[in-house]
Amino acid sequence: MSEGSSTIDVDDHARRFDPESRARALQSLLIEKELLSSDAVDRIVSTYEDEIGPLNGARVVARAWTDPEYRNRLLDDALGAIAELGVEVNEDTMAIEVLENTPTDHHLVVCTLCSCYPWAVLGLPPTWYKTPAYRSRAVKDPRELLREEFDLDLDDGIEIHVHDSTSELRYMVLPQRPPGTENLSEDDLVELVTRDAMIGVARLGE
Ligand code: FE
Repeated sequence: MSEGSSTIDVDDHARRFDPESRARALQSLLIEKELLSSDAVDRIVSTYEDEIGPLNGARVVARAWTDPEYRNRLLDDALGAIAELGVEVNEDTMAIEVLENTPTDHHLVVCTLCSCYPWAVLGLPPTWYKTPAYRSRAVKDPRELLREEFDLDLDDGIEIHVHDSTSELRYMVLPQRPPGTENLSEDDLVELVTRDAMIGVARLGE
């Protein structure tokens, strides 16, 4: 969309492309046509909200920190490596790529179009992930966004890579293992991994 050339009604455009309104409209229609029950929808939402959450992602990260071979497989074929831990991923609908943070490179995940997110490993996206402000600022000035909204002041020497998710390809960040955690067990490490670190709006141990 270029500025000045648009003749569309902006509000109407926003309504039509707002994923929440679209989802609600689709849901009403499917229920009306008796193709879907509202119970079934509630069940799916609560599964993602309460049971999945970011725990699957945290288990994947902790395993990658403790098992270099697993880390290699994860970076090479994320879906295969995630499935190894018993996480169910529908390969037909969701490809996932894992991006590894290093001392000099930081990855940040966004969906500029709507709210595509790796549900299978991170659960439901946080509300801010879906806001127009996050979606545009992540691309325009990610360093400023991280500093102002997430209190993450990245050193100028760290390059920020922004990854725009789609419904076909979603991303998850593999954060760096925090210093001083060498003696922790894999289970203890799982506890340290946060959702925000796997989206790239936080770094662990900072
Ligand atoms: Fe999206």
